Amino acid sequence: MYKEFGISEKIINLSEEIEKDIEPVFKKINKICEYNSLKVLKAFQKNNISDMHFNQTTGYGYGDVGRDTCEKVFADILKAEDALVRGQFISGTHALTVALFAFLRPGDTMLSITGKPYDTLDEVIGITENPSSLKSFGVKFEKIDLIDNDFDYEQIAERLKQSKVKLIEIQRSKGYSTRKSIKIEDVEKVIKHIRKYDKDVIIMIDNCYCEFVSEKEPLEVGADVIVGSLIKNLGGGIAPNGAYIAGKKELVKLAAERLTVPGEGKEVGPSLGITKSILQGIFMAPSVVASSLKTAVFASRMLEKLGYDVEPKYDEERADIVQNINFNDENKLIKYCQGIQMGSPIDSNSIPEPWDMPGYNDKVIMAAGAFTQGSSIELSCDGPIRAPYTAFMQGGLTYEYGKLGVLKAVQNMM
Ligand SMILES: *Cc1c(COP(=O)(O)O)cnc(C)c1O
Repeated sequence: MYKEFGISEKIINLSEEIEKDIEPVFKKINKICEYNSLKVLKAFQKNNISDMHFNQTTGYGYGDVGRDTCEKVFADILKAEDALVRGQFISGTHALTVALFAFLRPGDTMLSITGKPYDTLDEVIGITENPSSLKSFGVKFEKIDLIDNDFDYEQIAERLKQSKVKLIEIQRSKGYSTRKSIKIEDVEKVIKHIRKYDKDVIIMIDNCYCEFVSEKEPLEVGADVIVGSLIKNLGGGIAPNGAYIAGKKELVKLAAERLTVPGEGKEVGPSLGITKSILQGIFMAPSVVASSLKTAVFASRMLEKLGYDVEPKYDEERADIVQNINFNDENKLIKYCQGIQMGSPIDSNSIPEPWDMPGYNDKVIMAAGAFTQGSSIELSCDGPIRAPYTAFMQGGLTYEYGKLGVLKAVQNMM
């Protein structure tokens, strides 16, 4: 069958070799998947999820038992006091924006300790001028860069001793940078360090792409609030849109009152029939994240064998589902992404091209032949058109489809 997809004998043979190399890694992924699945099922049973929770509300959305119970399920899984899980969030960026505007006031300082945050936050923070940015409201932004892929512990201590910081942001996934993503153990270590100098600075984690990659989530290691997208890991490829904010009760309340209305908060917001999909999504998420990880591991070994610089390596411990491949060649990056599109179930005849996308500084090419527009828990691959021409590949609802996508991309690139 692979030949019918235009995959050459040579690449098929290579993929068979690779699957032997990566078997031990798959075993570890399966173990984590098993653990997280039990965690999810336990939360469903504890909250007595029933048919009635799939009902929808419209209009104001008062008394939406399904929505409220779904939020309890998320809170239990993430070990949060409370959670806000809503389709009214347009994206992960929107949820991060709501959280930042909810927690910060004029004169406050926000400090990122993982360098410059994700590109789409530039205009939110005011790194790129925008009349609606946090900066325009008098919120200050500072950052401390990572050194050798680790936190700059000294600088963090120095800064916290100097004057009050309101909020520290830790972005675990690498975004469009070539640094490593941040493992849960490292989140734990830096939070302990921060707490030596400041007991109550709000520690907020951008958890995009990291959920269910390991057995623990950031709230279990001392973070105050975490934010992520439902068209990434926790949506399991089924949630049609939305995002979540989970953590301390008072912070979730502030976020809810910013998303909706002061005084109304979590009480309003019609679910419009998506609760069942959100629940089904998180139910599938441990397995879908495992498939994404396997696809990434396969790609990592394949491209490494073909002589490309990959990060992480196939047998490295992972913190997120993202696989970097440095092509050092604009054309190869474009061809690889186009090949991913060709291997997709949706829009496989479209050819993605680099484009000036809103929110991004360089031209970006994005391959996403996805059921849900822009969903990157589905096999997707994107890259800013700048040296070292790195592809950021992630997702794969099943390993089998993910593998075919990678083979098609490699074939097209070669
Ligand atoms: C994807 C992502 C975001 C933004 O999420 P969208 O849903 O694309 O707006 C923010 N931070 C990180 C690290 C991400 O990977």
